[in-house]
Amino acid sequence: MEQRELGFTKIRLPVVGQGTWQMEEADEAACIDAIRRGIDAGMTHIDTAEMYGAGEVESLVGKAIEGRRDEVFLVSKVLPSNASYAGALAACERSLERLRTDRLDLYLLHWPGPEPLEETLRAFKDLRAQGKIRHFGVSNFDQAELSRAIALAGPNEIACNQVFYHLLERAIEHRVLPLCERHGIAVVAYSPFGSGRFPAPDSMGGKVLASIAAAHGATPRQVALRFLLRRQPVFVIPKAARAEHALDNAAAGDLRLTSEDLARIDTAFPLGPDRGVLPTL
Ligand code: NAP
Repeated sequence: MEQRELGFTKIRLPVVGQGTWQMEEADEAACIDAIRRGIDAGMTHIDTAEMYGAGEVESLVGKAIEGRRDEVFLVSKVLPSNASYAGALAACERSLERLRTDRLDLYLLHWPGPEPLEETLRAFKDLRAQGKIRHFGVSNFDQAELSRAIALAGPNEIACNQVFYHLLERAIEHRVLPLCERHGIAVVAYSPFGSGRFPAPDSMGGKVLASIAAAHGATPRQVALRFLLRRQPVFVIPKAARAEHALDNAAAGDLRLTSEDLARIDTAFPLGPDRGVLPTL
């Protein structure tokens, strides 16, 4: 599994991690097995949120990582409605309890919301000083929101921006990704398979993925993940409720595409014009 640095933090993380959204709707034992086998395969970056299943998914993740906490880079997110100073401190305590741990490796504001960002950042810094989180970041921030967050927090403080990024939605490449590159901020691509919108095998793009996959003895999904990872600040966090899917995704961490492969994918799934807004799921 390829590792790369999480932006300015210099923490080395696997390029492929594990999402957990909607796991409360799947069989719990199967999800726990998928997460554990994913960790075995090197996908130690685990993404969750207090929102997922209204806390149920954090509890599931807590069970999955029991006894393995030190192997894992654990990420959770505070809801914007809980992101006042006092609200974020309290939300973090609840997440820690559900996750059965004493610290998060990364704590994110789930999306920009009604509470003053200064107050959320103050809470994040205090949580870090107390050892309850190691780093903090944001999610679903467009370039203007991210610029403001950087200005408020100071340089080398916002460790990542977690954003919607898949083959059919490349809008972050216009401005958000370059801004992150300039500031050493990691870009964590959520819904890297389009959250159920993965190109069908008989579509034009699906055929391109299949032919590149065949040439490498890989799968179309591994090829898609590898395309998203072609730029240095990017990590991907596909979600798999089934162990066979988790293992398939982990193998993308060792795949290497040629520049010709990348060019073919770029043509099949064009970037498109800058619409001026950051798409979210
Ligand atoms: P996704 O990862 O794009 O797609 C998940 C779907 O793909 C599931 O149906 C899964 O099936 C299937 N799948 C996964 N690996 C597969 C494989 N190798 N072969 C075939 N099918 C496969 O969708 P997502 O859950 O929306 O996004 C990933 C993670 O990003 C989330 O879980 C969450 O942690 C994070 N996220 C963050 C935000 C945010 O606002 N910050 C928003 C959305 C998502 P099974 O589950 O049946 O294995």
